[in-house]
Amino acid sequence: MGRVDVAIVGAGVTGSSCALTLADAGLRVRVHEAREVAGGASGRNGGFALRGGAAPYDVARAELGAERAASLWRLTERALQQLGTLAGDAFRSTGSLRLAADLAEAESLWAEYEALRDDGFEVEWRSELDGRLAGRFHGAIFHPPDGSIQPARWVRRLAVRAAEAGAEIREHDPVTALEELDADQVVLATDGYTHGLLERLDRVVKPARGQVVVTEPLGEEYFACPHYARYGYDYWQQTEDLRLVLGGSRDGALEEESTAEERTTPGIQARLEAFAHELVGRAPKITHRWAGIFGVTKDRLPLAGPIRGYDGLWVACGYSGHGNVLGLACGDLIGQAIAGQPVPELALFDPAGRTQ
Ligand SMILES: Cc1cc2nc3c(=O)[nH]c(=O)nc-3n(C[C@H](O)[C@H](O)[C@H](O)COP(=O)(O)OP(=O)(O)OC[C@H]3O[C@@H](n4cnc5c(N)ncnc54)[C@H](O)[C@@H]3O)c2cc1C
Repeated sequence: MGRVDVAIVGAGVTGSSCALTLADAGLRVRVHEAREVAGGASGRNGGFALRGGAAPYDVARAELGAERAASLWRLTERALQQLGTLAGDAFRSTGSLRLAADLAEAESLWAEYEALRDDGFEVEWRSELDGRLAGRFHGAIFHPPDGSIQPARWVRRLAVRAAEAGAEIREHDPVTALEELDADQVVLATDGYTHGLLERLDRVVKPARGQVVVTEPLGEEYFACPHYARYGYDYWQQTEDLRLVLGGSRDGALEEESTAEERTTPGIQARLEAFAHELVGRAPKITHRWAGIFGVTKDRLPLAGPIRGYDGLWVACGYSGHGNVLGLACGDLIGQAIAGQPVPELALFDPAGRTQ
C-alpha cells in the first residue's frame, strides 16, 4: 500500500474500531499489531459489555458534572447498540447485575441506582435475589442495556470488517519507534500495553494486571448475565456452554498486580478458584487460566484525542478496566475526527492537560 493516511498501533477493539471508521471514510489505513488481532486485553477480558465509565454513575456525576456524565453514559449506550449490530452471535443482550456484597456497598449501589433513575436511564433495583445469590448479596442494580460478549471472536469479527472496508492489518509487526511509521497521522491504540513509544503517555497510563479462570461446563445455568460485586473486584458470568468465567480478586495483591507482566500468579488463582467453589457450591474443574493487562488513568477516564505538540499524533487508551464498549466508542470517535468530522464527545476524553 506504500505510505498511508493513518497508521494505527494495536489491533484490539480500539484499533479495529478506528480502522473500520477510517476505511469506511475512504482513508488509507494500516494497523500494526505486535501479536495477533485481539492478542491483548481485547481477547483476554471477562466479556462484560457495560454502559458507562469505570466510576459509578453518581460518582461520575459528582466528578464530571451532570451533563458530561449523562453524555458519557449515552455515548456508551449508543456504542452498545452498535456492538449488538456488528458482533452477531459474539454478543448476547442479557443485561448485567451489579451486586452488593455488604450493607455499605448496598448503600453505594442505591445512590447509583437513584442517580441513573433520576436522569432517565433504564435501570432496575433488585432487593430479592434468588438461586446461588440468595443470602449472599444485599441487593443489586440490574442494568438492562448491558450484555455479554465472546471478546476475541467479537474483535476478530470487527477487524475482518475493517479489512473488508480496505484497512491493511499487519500482525506480528511490533512498532518500536513512531518515526518508523510511513503515515501522515498515527493513532496509539495500545491501552495497558502502551509502553516505550511515547514517554509522556507512559507517565499517565499505568498498566494493571487482571486474571481469569474458566471452569468446565457446569451443566446448569446459575447466572444468566454478567455479575459483579465488591466494587468490581469480583466478576463472573456463564458462557453459552455453561462454563463459569470468573475474574478479579486483584485486591488480594494490589501492588503486585500493578504490573505489565502478563502472567498468572498462584495467590490470585487460588482466590479465584476458592470463589468459584463458593459460588457453585462445589470445586469445579478449572480448564483455562490467563492474565491480561489493562491501562489505568488517575481519573479513570480514557485519554482519546490528539496529543498536543505532536503533529498528527492521536491516542485512545486508558479505559481503566472498562474498555469493551468505551474502546469501540473511542476508536470510532478518533476515526471520525481524523476523517474531518466534528466530534464534540471527544471533549470528554481530551488528553490536553492530562499528559503534561
Ligand atoms: C482480565 C481482564 C478483564 C477485563 N474485563 C473487562 C470487562 O469485562 N469489560 C470491559 O469493558 N473491559 C474489561 N477489561 C478491559 C478491556 O479488555 C480493555 O480496556 C480493552 O480490551 C482495551 O482494548 P484496546 O483495543 O484499547 O487495547 P488491547 O486490546 O489491549 O490492544 C492493544 C494492542 O496493542 C498491541 N501493541 C502494544 N504495543 C504495540 C507496539 N509497540 N506495536 C504493535 N502493537 C502493539 C498489543 O499487542 C495489543 O494487542 C478487562 C481487561 C482484562 C485484562
